[in-house]
Amino acid sequence: NHDRELQYQITRFGAGDRLLVARDITQMLRLEQTRQDFVANASHELRTPLTVILGYLETFLDHDLPRPLQRGMNQMQQQARRMQNLVSDLLLLSRLEASRQVSDEHPVKVQSLIQNIYEAATELSRDKGHTFDLELDQQHDLLGQEIELHSAFSNLVYNAARYTPQDGHIEIRWWVDKDGGHFSVTDNGIGIDAMHIARLTERFYRVDESRSSESGGTGLGLAIVKHVLSRHGGNLTIRSKKGEGSTFTCHFPLEYLMLVSVSDNDDDL
Ligand code: ADP
Repeated sequence: NHDRELQYQITRFGAGDRLLVARDITQMLRLEQTRQDFVANASHELRTPLTVILGYLETFLDHDLPRPLQRGMNQMQQQARRMQNLVSDLLLLSRLEASRQVSDEHPVKVQSLIQNIYEAATELSRDKGHTFDLELDQQHDLLGQEIELHSAFSNLVYNAARYTPQDGHIEIRWWVDKDGGHFSVTDNGIGIDAMHIARLTERFYRVDESRSSESGGTGLGLAIVKHVLSRHGGNLTIRSKKGEGSTFTCHFPLEYLMLVSVSDNDDDL
């Protein structure tokens, strides 16, 4: 029957005996699809009212307002922006969930992509006095979707900045070896207890709810990273020690790498 989705599992037991179990997962997949559609539609519908609210707030804040009013409006603007980030992350996530692989991939200049994120992060980290190290392989591009990769890499870099206290240090690396391409972000920040690591890429999973939401994230960053990587044939590894710091590494298979051609290099000169 073509309308049904079956999942098979083979269990071996005894002297070469096998048990084949088929499970009908049609209903489960339909429910999952309904959930995805609902999230996509709801986030889409929330975009317009939020734009209107933020537009008015900006106009009002351009005027001289009594102090308490000004304070209240600043709060409203801050929270509305937070909601806007949340809505756009929800939309992005539901687009990522809609298909398993990137379709129209292009050679992405990873070096300049990472360089841009690095510059934005150093600017944002100025108040916290973070120092940064940047190490980039120059010879390979990555086949994929630039917007998605930008989103994944910047989430990891901003997280490092967010969860690293004053005067911390952050290292950003992109390198290629026989196993593929790797992008890593290492910080010497607050670190993560081992029991949380396996669940970090779940939507809205947070180690410390109040600290994380105060810091301005949406709780969807690592879920986005995970989906982007799996759409590029890759995966994420997390190494961390509470109180010492963390390393998040994205791995991409060799098939997704391209040697930068010599003429491309000439263009850059
Ligand atoms: P958030 O918006 O809350 O940062 P993420 O999905 O990006 O959401 O991350 C999930 C949780 O993982 C965070 O709330 C935080 O507890 C933890 N986390 C992520 N990156 C780091 C890091 N570099 N150091 C310590 N904890 C981190």
